Amino acid sequence: MHIQDILQRYQSTISFEFFPPKSEKAAEALYGTIAELEPYKPSFVSVTYGAGGSTRELTHDLVVRLKETTELDPVPHLTCVCHGEDEIRSIVERYAKAGVSNILALGGDPPRDRSGWDRSQDAFRHAADLVAFLKRFNDESGSHPDPRGFGIGVAGFPEGHPETPNRLLEMDYLKAKVDAGADYIVTQLFFSNADFYDFRDRCELAGINVPIIAGIMPVVSRKGMTRMAELAAGARFPAKLLRAIDRAGDDAAAVERVGVHYATEQCLDLLENGVAGIHFYTLNQSAATREIYASLGLRDTDALHSRAD
Ligand SMILES: Cc1cc2nc3c(=O)[nH]c(=O)nc-3n(C[C@H](O)[C@H](O)[C@H](O)COP(=O)(O)OP(=O)(O)OC[C@H]3O[C@@H](n4cnc5c(N)ncnc54)[C@H](O)[C@@H]3O)c2cc1C
Repeated sequence: MHIQDILQRYQSTISFEFFPPKSEKAAEALYGTIAELEPYKPSFVSVTYGAGGSTRELTHDLVVRLKETTELDPVPHLTCVCHGEDEIRSIVERYAKAGVSNILALGGDPPRDRSGWDRSQDAFRHAADLVAFLKRFNDESGSHPDPRGFGIGVAGFPEGHPETPNRLLEMDYLKAKVDAGADYIVTQLFFSNADFYDFRDRCELAGINVPIIAGIMPVVSRKGMTRMAELAAGARFPAKLLRAIDRAGDDAAAVERVGVHYATEQCLDLLENGVAGIHFYTLNQSAATREIYASLGLRDTDALHSRAD
């Protein structure tokens, strides 16, 4: 189902992000996580695309496996970096053939080893160009089982994207993605809901009227927090959260409790404030997500939907 249809039907959604496993052991652990999380009936799940297109096949294989062997509705991420147009078209055609309903269209993180990367060889410079390509594919190819083709999502950055310090221009670029054909926005992780609400307001002022899904990643360890700060460049960790983590000291279980509690408070507040959706960055683990559901009083995602009925 198109994400925009799901978002229209429900007051708020909850969805999960996974990344494709790179070893047998990691795959086994992920399938265990998926089995634990499937009963929570997420509105959809998304599967990341490795930096520089490094998980092209792995992303495809996980998406198709989820589609064929679970009740989950998988959304592949697809990025511009390191791809020519023919390559992107063949990836998209395979997803169309598999009946995948949506794609999250992204600029993409640069490859880890940048030595062989010539950006001028990429067919698409920015996510807006990829969105426009997908829109053309939807209009012209006729190969998707849904006559509308793919639903299209794009990324948003409540705290701003580090490559664009000009926050006015940044909203123009986000609007260009939506005007090119995106149906919804999923945000980068954030720890201050005020940043999200302000972003939502700024989108409205800029004439960006598609639903905005909030990206939430609970801190589950000190190491994880360091990694988050590296990956989500520019992420701001509020003093309130840092102080609580400091108080937990070397007690790993206490750090995790603090992080999950903090994320739960964020989710409670987002739901109270009519968020279109919450997207959990699970890091292929289920514990934090399950705890948050329990603390929100949710047996599964349907329980959230029925509140809005
Ligand atoms: C929800 C989410 C999921 C993600 N999943 C992945 C993933 O699976 N794989 C991966 O590699 N990365 C992923 N990322 C990271 C993302 O690809 C990078 O942060 C990337 O730098 C920005 O992506 P974008 O889609 O916003 O790109 P873009 O919209 O292309 O923006 C990239 C930068 O260029 C600027 N810009 C946009 N248009 C223009 C223009 N016309 N002229 C000048 N500047 C412009 C933007 O302001 C921004 O600073 C994800 C990010 C989010 C929020």
